[in-house]
Amino acid sequence: MISAIDFSQQLIRIPSYSGNNPQVIELLKNTLQKIGFECKIIEFDGDGSYKVNNLHAIYNPQKSSQTIYFAGHTDVVNEGERSLWQYDPFEAKIVDGKLFGRGASDMKCAIASFVSAVSEFLQNNSQPNFGIGFLITNDEENDSINGTKKVLNWMQENNLPITYCLVGEPTNPKEFGEMIKIGRRGSIGFKIKITGKQGHVAYPDIALNPITMLINLCKILKDQKLDNGTKFFDPSNLEFTHISSQNLGSNVIPNEAECAFNVRFNDTHKAQEIINFVEYACQKTIGGEGLAFSGKYQIEKRISGEAFLSEPKKLAQIVQQATQKICGKMPVLSTTGGTSDARFIKDFAEVVEIGLVNETAHKIDEYSKVSEIENLQKVYLEILNLITQI
Ligand SMILES: [Zn+2]
Repeated sequence: MISAIDFSQQLIRIPSYSGNNPQVIELLKNTLQKIGFECKIIEFDGDGSYKVNNLHAIYNPQKSSQTIYFAGHTDVVNEGERSLWQYDPFEAKIVDGKLFGRGASDMKCAIASFVSAVSEFLQNNSQPNFGIGFLITNDEENDSINGTKKVLNWMQENNLPITYCLVGEPTNPKEFGEMIKIGRRGSIGFKIKITGKQGHVAYPDIALNPITMLINLCKILKDQKLDNGTKFFDPSNLEFTHISSQNLGSNVIPNEAECAFNVRFNDTHKAQEIINFVEYACQKTIGGEGLAFSGKYQIEKRISGEAFLSEPKKLAQIVQQATQKICGKMPVLSTTGGTSDARFIKDFAEVVEIGLVNETAHKIDEYSKVSEIENLQKVYLEILNLITQI
């Protein structure tokens, strides 16, 4: 049997930044081959991005009507200034029950936990009535162009079905077992620059104050209720992050003013609907062609991702049941937090994210508690046991 802790340390000791990292993918491939997986390293390149190596591994593919996959990434974000770390980020040192290292939370220890759980499971069930797969990319933390999304298409072309998928991203705010994720809100950042007409405060009729237009715009944007939320999502929200003008002096109407805001939206909207609403509000308050107003505006926007939901069905139930058994509490189904590769997988399978604690992810002194890694391994094992029964 493979130890989750030992294997976590082996993975952390290979610094593997996004893109092509043969060493970390080979380690995983060799480890999985030893316990009976058919492995294939799949490289993708192009589409305006860099080369990425991904790993597909499958056990028992032909005898199964259903297949559970574990999806994850071996790439890590940069460790930053090494001297600020208490322990070297790639030493994988255990101190006071904490395993320190880049990738300990996000998400090498989760990969190791699933590998360990599978090795233990197969010792007692060498012929399970389902297939077990791994979809591992080395490019989740960067642009994700040549990673999970392309592997999923490759799987479809090669007739490799996927019924359920666990994603090992860290999902818990404080302690393991409190939260699993079944979707994410979408996010768009906006910056709006308004141009009026500079002038004297005593002669506002021959100037056009961009601040007045900005205030009206902000009010319309903030007053508009986007929705009431859904069973699985909070109401969508627009939050201002910046507001400014030129501040030319107490008797000068400025020429320009600007604001920035972010919209976190649920799956009742597409990003384009939010953009249309913002454009409509600008036309109403600043002006536009054919309108009486003469103000001008420029909108800059950045879509970070659409909202998605993987409707909780059998897998979510199994994951909750397994977590309750091992941790003694029922994890909440959440759609909070930043995005993940689950956004691609949800089009192919029921997907549930369950991993460690995300409190130190991407930070200096990233760590995971040894006891929580061991519990994650037990939860993954219990999930496999429960899948045998359906
Ligand atoms: Zn991650």
